Amino acid sequence: MSFTGLIANAYDSHCHFAATGEMNQTLQLASLTSAEQVLDLDQTKMHYRGDWLIGFGWDENKWASELLPHRSTLDQAFGERLVSFSRADGHAAWVSTSVLQKLGWLNSDGKLAGPLPNTPGGKIVLDDAGVPTGVVIDAAKTHVDHILPKVSSHQMNSFLLSAIAEFHKNGITHIRDMSCSELQWNETLKLEGSGLLKVAIEQTFSAETPDQFDKAYDLAQRAMKVKTRNVKPVAMKVYYDGALGSEGALLSEPYKSGSGVGLKLLTKDQVQSFLKLAWEIDLALAVHTIGDLAVKEVVEAAIELWDQGLTGDLHLEHAQLISPETLEAMKGRPIKCFMQPCHYLSDKSFLKSKLTDRLLSFLFPYKKLEDMGLEFYFGSDTPIEPPEVNLNYLAMLEMDQMGVPRPAAEFELLHSHPDRSWIQNCHSKFVDGKVTGVSFDGEMVI
Ligand SMILES: [Zn+2]
Repeated sequence: MSFTGLIANAYDSHCHFAATGEMNQTLQLASLTSAEQVLDLDQTKMHYRGDWLIGFGWDENKWASELLPHRSTLDQAFGERLVSFSRADGHAAWVSTSVLQKLGWLNSDGKLAGPLPNTPGGKIVLDDAGVPTGVVIDAAKTHVDHILPKVSSHQMNSFLLSAIAEFHKNGITHIRDMSCSELQWNETLKLEGSGLLKVAIEQTFSAETPDQFDKAYDLAQRAMKVKTRNVKPVAMKVYYDGALGSEGALLSEPYKSGSGVGLKLLTKDQVQSFLKLAWEIDLALAVHTIGDLAVKEVVEAAIELWDQGLTGDLHLEHAQLISPETLEAMKGRPIKCFMQPCHYLSDKSFLKSKLTDRLLSFLFPYKKLEDMGLEFYFGSDTPIEPPEVNLNYLAMLEMDQMGVPRPAAEFELLHSHPDRSWIQNCHSKFVDGKVTGVSFDGEMVI
């Protein structure tokens, strides 16, 4: 049964604005059933950024081999081109040999050029001989991101307009955007100035790695001084762990594969100093926490500060696994959770093979959060998942049948921005999961 109803201020509480638009111009890899299928891909000029071929969406869990891919397959398909293909969770990249040469990791003869960079919180996957295979995970992926050609203001403008159209198509009028560059901020304000920003945006400012925090903070401070009707700065964002699919989410019990307990990307001192800095300028700190140990450690770090008399909000992004003890500690604290039930639909194929039964019982505890009176909101994490409200509805029903109780609150409320006075006359109508009409600020946009 799909969702039918009317949502006021339909809200995607965790999304990536520019990347959602960019996705429409990126080579799609989600349908690959083996690494070798890249040989048959139809690529066009649109899929290039500068001289790089950019793709997204591969997932080795869907392949018969279930093995991470190797750069030799990309070299075979695309020769000496620079190729970067992001994994479906956005937490790993599969790159061609030319990229590793451009990074200075490999010589032109394919041999190691010297010691590889130290990447705490990340992993450069190596073959038996200690040579990179072309897959880089979490913090190691940022080496690749840094040498990608910069997006032009013209491209950014087209990404944002394409994303707004995508949100309208899916009935979304209010978003909480999780990543914002200087360029994106400037182009967003330009769109608002010309009346084209037909979406209400809560803006967070993201540091992909701890050393990028200062730069993001500087932008956030300047953004706080610009009050516009449609765009509200709300939080700084940092990453505490990785994703479940690539076994980067930080767990209290090891992954069944034997890969360990996941990645811890920040120290307690770093979390506390980021909390203080965000709170000083009246922003919340939003922390990417997927695994139960990540949630526990971040909550404990914040509690120490609150108990010292400091005030400010903590946002937990994803919070896919929370233990009963951590839930108890969260009670009465200024914590909001931003959750994406739709991740269950993508993750269910591997959850049982990765997680112990104890950890499986911690999945999506929204009913418990609700019973404790803690706020939580649904979102999609687009472009990681499509921004389809109905997917969260279906995931919630399916999990309910699997023993993860659904919240008592009406679904409409879980996908609605809580401030009903912020841009009025926004309504989205859904019939059998499909969007049949959307108004933003009183104007029919669908
Ligand atoms: Zn995200």
